[in-house]
Amino acid sequence: MTATRVLVLNSGSSSVKYQLLDMSDSSRLAAGLVERIGEETSRLKHTPLTGGGEAREREQPIADHEEALKAVADELARDGLGIDSPELAAIGHRVVHGGKFFTEPTVIDDAVLKEVERLIPVAPLHNPANLTGIRTAMALRPDLPQVAVFDTAFHTTMPESAARYAIDIKTADEHRIRRYGFHGTSHAYVSRRTAQLLGKEPEDVNVIVLHLGNGASASAVRGGICVDTSMGLTPLEGLVMGTRSGDVDPAVIFHLMRVGNMTADEIDVLLNKKSGLIGLCGDNDMREIRRRVDEGEQEARLAFDIYIHRLKKYIGAYYAVLGRVDAIVFTAGVGENSAPVREAAVAGLEELGLAVDGELNSVRSDEARIVSPEYARVAVAVVPTDEELEIAQQTYALVAPPENRNA
Ligand code: AMP
Repeated sequence: MTATRVLVLNSGSSSVKYQLLDMSDSSRLAAGLVERIGEETSRLKHTPLTGGGEAREREQPIADHEEALKAVADELARDGLGIDSPELAAIGHRVVHGGKFFTEPTVIDDAVLKEVERLIPVAPLHNPANLTGIRTAMALRPDLPQVAVFDTAFHTTMPESAARYAIDIKTADEHRIRRYGFHGTSHAYVSRRTAQLLGKEPEDVNVIVLHLGNGASASAVRGGICVDTSMGLTPLEGLVMGTRSGDVDPAVIFHLMRVGNMTADEIDVLLNKKSGLIGLCGDNDMREIRRRVDEGEQEARLAFDIYIHRLKKYIGAYYAVLGRVDAIVFTAGVGENSAPVREAAVAGLEELGLAVDGELNSVRSDEARIVSPEYARVAVAVVPTDEELEIAQQTYALVAPPENRNA
């Protein structure tokens, strides 16, 4: 029997998201989420996606990632999809920061673990959780290939002119300060899927990808290759996000230290957790913000306007970086669902060949689709992202026997 299943794990600091896929037809067999690990109120939600089983939820204290993964393994086993099955080919792990050197998905060994650990100072929130997930999974199935798929990998093709900050070069190199970019798995998947939607090969299209979720980033993709992206050393730079400020003058930080008497840690929390939409208007959910805008609330209107203004600046910047743009594509929670955001982001850009068709744009759908009018020079597309499928595909491509790689 050929092993064709891949378990995808996305381990956060207090959560584990997972999906089990069968790569013989890219179908999903099960999906789930463990939340609030380490608290009394931990919760596991498991949804079998084959065989017609009902979703199951358990609330029970789950002390750590090891217990969480064991609980996940139990749930999968109940559906006859146990992780001890010979049909499981590999486990694919999302790893947020792969630095400059991990340009590809990589089979995990001790050297890889060490390097991911070495990157903790530049990804203090994410890499430790990712490592815990990997180590726990390795202990459960030591015989199985475990693959790291890095959020940064797609962006390692950025030219130095885009990847470097204009700061003292020796200091930058000493501390590995450069623009790494994140959400790469999503940008890779969505840019490729957009080319397909246009009926073209990725090599033949230039795309601006707008990944607008609670975290948000833009990227400029020329012929399938990322040439710029809005997140930097960390996922704080760039667009206005749910709770993150995106771009600010770095002098804001010195000012807050000197005049506001704040510590570096306090400013870190301010810019990462208490800024962006939530800092501007008290809400980070775009649905709620739009409801408030429609009721004429000024605070919500300002937050929305700042969000859109920043988005437009990046569209303009990446238009200039690419020179020729074939499509602008919206993805993730806000990008896939918020017609007002898409409409406002391209409003007034007709001279750049950009427009949305009001009717097409307002249709709700889970399908990849084009929402620009026939006459527009640049396609405006909405493409639901699928990071789990991308991770599973990249993982399987690395571990499957050659005859199965294009399954
Ligand atoms: P993500 O990080 O991709 O899961 O996106 C989460 C965000 O998507 C939420 O915080 C909301 O702001 C936004 N979102 C989800 N559904 C909708 C919707 N129907 N309309 C507008 N925004 C939405």
